Amino acid sequence: ATIFNNIEQLPPDALFGIKQRYSKDTRSHKVDLGIGAYRDNNGKPWVLPSVKLAEHSIHSDPSYNHEYLNISGLNAFTTGASNILFGPDSIAIKESRIVSNQSVSGTGALHIAAKFISKFFPEKKIYFSKPTWANHQAIFQAQNLQCDSYPYWDAATKSIDMEGYLNAIKTAPRGSVFVLHACAHNPTGLDPTNEQWANILDMLNMGDHLVLFDSAYQGFASGDLNKDAYAVRLGVEKLSDNVPIFVCQSFAKNVGMYGERVGCFHLVLPRQSNEDETAKVKAALSSQLNKIVRSEISNPPAYGAKIVAQILNDENMTNQWHKDMVTMSSRIIKMRHSLRDKLNELGTPGNWDHIVSQTGMFSFTGLTADMVKRLEEEHAIYMVSSGRASIAGLNEHNVDHVAKSIDEVVN
Ligand code: PMP
Repeated sequence: ATIFNNIEQLPPDALFGIKQRYSKDTRSHKVDLGIGAYRDNNGKPWVLPSVKLAEHSIHSDPSYNHEYLNISGLNAFTTGASNILFGPDSIAIKESRIVSNQSVSGTGALHIAAKFISKFFPEKKIYFSKPTWANHQAIFQAQNLQCDSYPYWDAATKSIDMEGYLNAIKTAPRGSVFVLHACAHNPTGLDPTNEQWANILDMLNMGDHLVLFDSAYQGFASGDLNKDAYAVRLGVEKLSDNVPIFVCQSFAKNVGMYGERVGCFHLVLPRQSNEDETAKVKAALSSQLNKIVRSEISNPPAYGAKIVAQILNDENMTNQWHKDMVTMSSRIIKMRHSLRDKLNELGTPGNWDHIVSQTGMFSFTGLTADMVKRLEEEHAIYMVSSGRASIAGLNEHNVDHVAKSIDEVVN
């Protein structure tokens, strides 16, 4: 025996485990509704035309090279990323109150946030929606932070439990951290209305809570960058006089560069008494964030950031990108309608309107773990045991089979 013999083997990651089983399945009618990645109408990954334009432009530049980026990342990328998220009229941008660090996609941005909080505010409790993205708690727990949850999904009504949500904010220790999904809540596909956002943010403000917006689907959810940034911008407006705001921004979905790991961490500083004070705090925080990044990844990956910087800084490519986001979001919305309509035609017991009213990549179908298991075993349809289905995996060729199979397992 060696020192390694007592180390236990862990079960496979739930989501990536589904991907593995799906890959091994030899049934030709198999359908992958597991992992959240966009697929075209033939079930194939899609390289966005805007990304192709940017790649072409970069590769035809004779000065293109593979040098290291700065520790804080590519400036043209982080500035562009900040502009689309906070908006051109953002008071925080005008007052130069945002520190931005390029990150290893959204996960890396969350990791920077968790490291930063654990270093300077280790006593703070982190609150996540119940349910939330499977990796959220793991990222913060890995930094020894104490994690808790606030009510979100009300299974009986398939809507947000606003009373429970607001009450959790009210009773949390003053100055806690609340992680909010900026749009397209994963896994429920259920977002607060504009009015609900205002109530949530006001309540957070009353408790001096710190807000962390996780923005993984901007533009992907509705096809409109501004619409999907509503909550973040309202948060900056309502809270940032008082408390800092963390934003973790992923470009995995909206530019479809999942594996290139393009993301950004933004820290919006609370307003200081004067500009000099702001500059001083900003410089201090920037140096601390760079120290975190330096010891872990030294400097962020360059390729995806260069592509996104091209897209954000060229009008023609930006326009194409906006069209691409509409292409993706409208195909997903069309598939939501198609599945709902087919279930209604089949007379499948229950009400399926939530499939249409939910937004973003996922639908929280309400199917039980047992039904999900049968879908996989008997019908070669793969999804997470919580009943979360990635709608991007549906297309005109498989939606019939999926509807009939759901009908069969529900009946
Ligand atoms: N947050 C949420 C809510 C997500 O759904 C995801 C992707 N599934 C991420 C963050 C991070 O993804 P990535 O690291 O690929 O950007």
